[in-house]
Amino acid sequence: MLSLQKVSKSYTSQGQTFQAVLPVSMEIETGGIHGIIGTSGAGKSTLLRLMNLLERPDEGSVLFEERDLMRVSERELREARRSIGMIFQQFNLVHNRTVHGNVAAALELARTPKRDRERRITEVLSFVGLEDKVRQYPAQLSGGQKQRVAIARAMASNPKLLLCDEPTSALDPQTTEDLLNTLLHINRTLGVTIVIVTHEMEVVRQICTRVSVMEMGAVVDTFDLPKRSEER
Ligand code: ADP
Ligand code: ADP
Repeated sequence: MLSLQKVSKSYTSQGQTFQAVLPVSMEIETGGIHGIIGTSGAGKSTLLRLMNLLERPDEGSVLFEERDLMRVSERELREARRSIGMIFQQFNLVHNRTVHGNVAAALELARTPKRDRERRITEVLSFVGLEDKVRQYPAQLSGGQKQRVAIARAMASNPKLLLCDEPTSALDPQTTEDLLNTLLHINRTLGVTIVIVTHEMEVVRQICTRVSVMEMGAVVDTFDLPKRSEER
């Protein structure tokens, strides 16, 4: 589905250059849940943002469904990005828009025809179990509900790949469990490939099919995990 080929990223601040991601190669297999684990500052979040070119790599290539995203046209890049959803630790919702408005905004960005939008909004909000919250504002929701809105927003344009940046780090254990089940459900029933960045081994253990370990900007280990039974 997605292939990173020797991608690297450095940041320069106050005249100092810091290598956040050393040249890293990685294959994200279609249909899997790929965990990226490591301590804070290891470069996980930067690596994830390289996958949809939210950050442009200094060097290397990002192949999404065999197309090199560094070399495609603006239009093709926009198309590819529509196929790649993303969620964040702090949810990143638009505060002055309702739940409905947050999902609607994603569909506007994706240039979904107006006539299809309401049906799609209802569909994704009922998929995450928030159909009764359409009129609420983010501030009126719990952390777990906010993350569900974020998932609904990310899923609105029917992505093939969902990138998750520490999606459970702001949630309590019970809400974390629910959210992981939602991600598992998205993976299994919709066939969406998932990449999940986390510093929690428990998250990896519960849903990942494969995990890469990052240390100081490098991937130091990658291994497969036994498949979980269906009844979770
Ligand atoms: P992780 O997700 O594993 O905690 P990050 O990818 O967020 O790691 O960060 C890796 C390193 O790159 C850290 O030292 C961080 O301070 C640095 N870094 C990340 N983003 C930026 C940025 N926009 N500007 C400068 N330094 C950054
Ligand atoms: P925001 O205030 O963030 O723009 P709203 O959801 O309040 O988002 O309103 C945006 C537009 O969508 C309004 O015209 C509103 O009437 C319409 N709208 C909001 N919720 C629904 C819904 N459940 N079904 C149909 N139209 C809706």
